[in-house]
Amino acid sequence: MQTQMLIGGKWLDGSDPNRIAVLNPANGDVIAEVAAGTPADATAAVDAADTAQRSWAATAPRVRSEVLRNCWQTLIDHTEELAGLITAEHGKPTADAKGEIAYAAEFFRWNAEEAVRIDGTIKTAPSGAHKIIVHHPPVGVVVMVTPWNFPAAMITRKVAPALAAGNACVIKPPKETPLTALRIGELLEEAGVPAGLVNVVPTQSSGSWFDAATEHRATRMVSFTGSTEVGRVLLKRCADRVLKTGMELGGNAPFIVFNDADIEAAVEGAIVAKMRHSAEVCTAANRMFVEAGVADEFTDRLAAAMGAMKVGPGTEEGVTCGPMINAGAIETIDGLVQGALAAGATAAVGGAPIDGPGFFYAPTVLGDVTMESPITKEEIFGPVAPVIPFTDTDTVIDWANDTEMGLASYVFSGDVARAMSVGERIHAGMVGINRGAMSDPAAPFGGMKQSGLGREGAHEGIFEFCETQYIAANW
Ligand code: NAD
Repeated sequence: MQTQMLIGGKWLDGSDPNRIAVLNPANGDVIAEVAAGTPADATAAVDAADTAQRSWAATAPRVRSEVLRNCWQTLIDHTEELAGLITAEHGKPTADAKGEIAYAAEFFRWNAEEAVRIDGTIKTAPSGAHKIIVHHPPVGVVVMVTPWNFPAAMITRKVAPALAAGNACVIKPPKETPLTALRIGELLEEAGVPAGLVNVVPTQSSGSWFDAATEHRATRMVSFTGSTEVGRVLLKRCADRVLKTGMELGGNAPFIVFNDADIEAAVEGAIVAKMRHSAEVCTAANRMFVEAGVADEFTDRLAAAMGAMKVGPGTEEGVTCGPMINAGAIETIDGLVQGALAAGATAAVGGAPIDGPGFFYAPTVLGDVTMESPITKEEIFGPVAPVIPFTDTDTVIDWANDTEMGLASYVFSGDVARAMSVGERIHAGMVGINRGAMSDPAAPFGGMKQSGLGREGAHEGIFEFCETQYIAANW
């Protein structure tokens, strides 16, 4: 297990004498103590990245592409080991952790293909006086700040396109899940990523670390995934140096089920949209809007499916819902549930934490929730599905859009034309029609409104890590 930090290809102890204690959320035990970086370490990492980036940017795209392809293969070859680390520090069931590695690795294969297709354009100026040549050089050094809910994928979704475009990375992983991040840094070097291009510097003083990293004159971009609250703070700090930003922020996804939906498929989709990765997902269905004619049937069937889930340590055979990340998460989730119950909701199943050790919450379905309930306003980030009955399409679209968030949304209907037209009216960056999963490295992931700025993945994703340069030429 790698517990030192990675700067310029060297494994180092952090300058902070207090190491970061990493907990296993299934029992609260400390499983490792990881080197903690200081602002000085952040500066050193940007120095190293700056040096490495110059020669990487000058490396042929085909060579970069082949290194990225090796990264994909190397991560796939280490699926068992990486999934074990994810389950140990995050808690998610082993099957979800393996799924995360497949998804995380795929960003390297996809961007290996994109590295040689960073298209530009050439055209004649309307005046006929010159040629307009547009191309896309790399941004330079990118500072990446990532969350704990996908310890691998939220890193690779940034690193792969950044490297493909010719950039270098300084990563601040979350203090809850640094082990996966450090091992990925190590594996990428084994796969051929030159030293200094990917630096991994955990810290327990994220504010001052971030200030040092972004005040460095070589830093040109910040790519952040995390809560909207922290995203706002970082955007303000980035304004001081007018840094380019990519922001993947919080969600409050509506999940709309019409009377004509295939209810079995809708319940299966709801379980996927709500419960995968132990429900700690930014695209998680947060508000289940169900048309009145099927609200009771949907609620009963969803409650049966949620009640049948096996809750326990992610390493245990058959477990489908692991622990939450920490005690604070349990408190937040239970506060929202108790608030909804006090506002008149009923618990069709669950409704309370499960006694320790570890941080477990019973899969919960709340019926008869109203739009006034505080649970409809907040990102739950836990295994709780509030069902809000509706009777009218325009009203449910208004309710779906009655939030500052706009990341994911879901529509289930037997009439695909209706589902499509409702989907188009929802202010969200991503819409699932009759399906509960949508993440795909080949698709543009990201949010509208306060759910973020920019997109990760797809053909568009690589351009987030590029500049646009125009050359006016005569010949
Ligand atoms: P968080 O915002 O608390 O933390 C994210 C990262 O920011 C962590 O590395 C944290 O250490 C760091 N951080 C916190 N305060 C900071 C500061 N002042 N300066 C610099 N860095 C700071 O989020 P979290 O609890 O780790 O993750 C859950 C959140 O992430 C949810 O809101 C979820 O929706 C969101 N998320 C979004 C996406 C997406 O793609 N849109 C994906 C995953 C998670």
